[in-house]
Amino acid sequence: MQLYKPEVEAQRFWNPYTQTMPRAELDPLHLRKLQTVIAYAYARSPMYRKLLDRHKVRPEQIRTLDDFVKRLPFIDKKEILDAQAVNPPFGDALAISEDFFHQRFATSGSTGTPLHIPLTYHSAELWGESWVYGFWAAGLRARHSFYFAFNWGIFAAFWSAYMGVRRLGATVISGGGLDSKARLRQIEQYRPDVILATPTYALYLGETARELGMDLAKTSISHVFVAGEPGASIPATRRAIEELWGAKCYELYGIAELGPTNPGCPLQGGVHLCEEWYHALVVDESGHPVPYGEVGEHIVTSYIQDGQPLIKYRTHDLVRWTDVPCGCGTTWLYYPGGVLGRTDQMIIVKGVNVYPSALEALLHRVAGLSEHYELHVGRDALNDFVTVKVEARGEIDENRYASVGREAEAVFKSAIGVSIGVEVQKPGSLPRYELKAKRFFDHRPAAHRWQLSGGPGA
Ligand SMILES: [Zn+2]
Repeated sequence: MQLYKPEVEAQRFWNPYTQTMPRAELDPLHLRKLQTVIAYAYARSPMYRKLLDRHKVRPEQIRTLDDFVKRLPFIDKKEILDAQAVNPPFGDALAISEDFFHQRFATSGSTGTPLHIPLTYHSAELWGESWVYGFWAAGLRARHSFYFAFNWGIFAAFWSAYMGVRRLGATVISGGGLDSKARLRQIEQYRPDVILATPTYALYLGETARELGMDLAKTSISHVFVAGEPGASIPATRRAIEELWGAKCYELYGIAELGPTNPGCPLQGGVHLCEEWYHALVVDESGHPVPYGEVGEHIVTSYIQDGQPLIKYRTHDLVRWTDVPCGCGTTWLYYPGGVLGRTDQMIIVKGVNVYPSALEALLHRVAGLSEHYELHVGRDALNDFVTVKVEARGEIDENRYASVGREAEAVFKSAIGVSIGVEVQKPGSLPRYELKAKRFFDHRPAAHRWQLSGGPGA
């Protein structure tokens, strides 16, 4: 196979043709793909036909990217759920017969009804390939082996990574159905090169390893690939994972309904949009795209979901997009810092936007504080205010907590320009999480949270 030629193995990109395509060529390619998926969805999905009819727009009226931005409505999870409720489980959201389904996923439904996600064989394979862009850029090849610290449930999670490892031609080792100790023993036995896990679990395994008297830095793992929550693009969190495992840590940002949209940059400072399979906008609360360099809600269109198309789908994730090259050589859109938070986690203190991921990064600059913290956001008459509860490290004496807290407050004040309260607590006082950490506690009235209220979807 061509893949195994040494000159191909040495190549920096999985697909140099599209990964280095100039923007002047990428954008017309996007327009053609967008026109194709819009016409497909309109012709085949009752949900999209109703949505576009309601907004009085027909597919042939999308002649430019500007038309796409200004005329085509956004779609949100709620509309898909409503369409699925018409004839469960998939209902009016479907664009293809269930006979073509290859795999079904669902969201956890932790905030309501689960959203059903059908994939055709074509979609499943291409979800996998999106991971390969990240694997390849991180230097991983067919000769490597990948350990899945993952339970193979109905949630998409690392299933797409599994498809990616197969596409790469590498080896899969399953840690499904095992507890953490058994997984660590498997890692000792099989000697995989890569572990895939959430950032919280990658760190949690460190506590399990300590109980076993095992040093993770001495295992065969050379790469930790994290997904499922922000992590590897936050320098301090990445450093903690890298020190624990003695390995390089990379991330992929994906969205359950859309798949692995954003493989991490090999320079580790953020993620790229996989422009082969996805189009994205970053918009403000009025629904208008924000200028490059600014933060807004990530709005994504998939080119690869023929079962249940998603066009201008609201992710509720906050990202900063930029046209400044990141240095790795790709022309694909770059989001420094990865996902900065959820739209409902947007905090504005005295006119200054404060992002949870920025607070996490700053917290780690203060010696004596651990990675266990919570953000509590409230609101007084005029402003949001934030209190950070954070555990001290074990070696810090309790009578120093107040001064360490003041030091953290000074770091926040100088970096962000506003006051953030810090309460330092004893080690072990905050809850522990195995898969994803709950760190954001919102005590504000709903009216003071971020709302996408304008734009063509309004
Ligand atoms: Zn890059």
